[in-house]
Amino acid sequence: MAVVVSACLLGEPCRWDGGTNRNEAVIRFCQGQEVIPVCPECAGGLPTPRLPSELREGVVVNREGDSVDAAFREGAARCLALIGEKPVTLAILKARSPSCGKGQIYDGSFTRTLVPGNGVCAELLQQAGIPVLTEEEYLALLKETENIENKIGGSNMNQNIVKRNTLLAQKVIKGLQSRNMSGYYAADREEALRIALSLIPEGSTATMGGSVSAQEIGLVDALKA
Ligand code: SF4
Repeated sequence: MAVVVSACLLGEPCRWDGGTNRNEAVIRFCQGQEVIPVCPECAGGLPTPRLPSELREGVVVNREGDSVDAAFREGAARCLALIGEKPVTLAILKARSPSCGKGQIYDGSFTRTLVPGNGVCAELLQQAGIPVLTEEEYLALLKETENIENKIGGSNMNQNIVKRNTLLAQKVIKGLQSRNMSGYYAADREEALRIALSLIPEGSTATMGGSVSAQEIGLVDALKA
């Protein structure tokens, strides 16, 4: 399974001013996972550095008031095409960006005024069924895990990882349910196989769509047996 991540969170200097939003916690989370870095604004052909942009009444404009909407939407579509058919568990995107922000974005007045809404790419990925967290939501989740550890006095690293994954899965499943999809959390391959088999009625036909996860958890072999 792959994780989509805003490239600037991984340290790419693709932010509008040529800087990055490097985030060590997000980078640590990505270790050992297949990562698909995306920068929708670069993918849309915009240069770096570039003028800052915001969404104003559904149209992306830069600080000079020129519409850059087409480039933003083209970039988001290219990011979705890059993801293609890869099985993606989660996207961690940069908060408040007119491309990557989720839940809250700037209102188009360039006065740092926030309004409810999603960036263009975050909206597109969610419409495609990909659960999106901002890096701030991910950090809040880590904090929540730490608080639980402090309350119960846990110090075992493996236990901590399990708790973090459980909380993360709850968020992802909630996101899927809000788009009328179901999700299940399995702590390991064996549990994933058990859950997958329990969801396939006896005598039915299953197609895998090239799913690597189905191979990895042994589902393909179990169904052939
Ligand atoms: S478009 Fe997204 S990935 Fe690119 S710099 Fe902006 S926030 Fe980062």
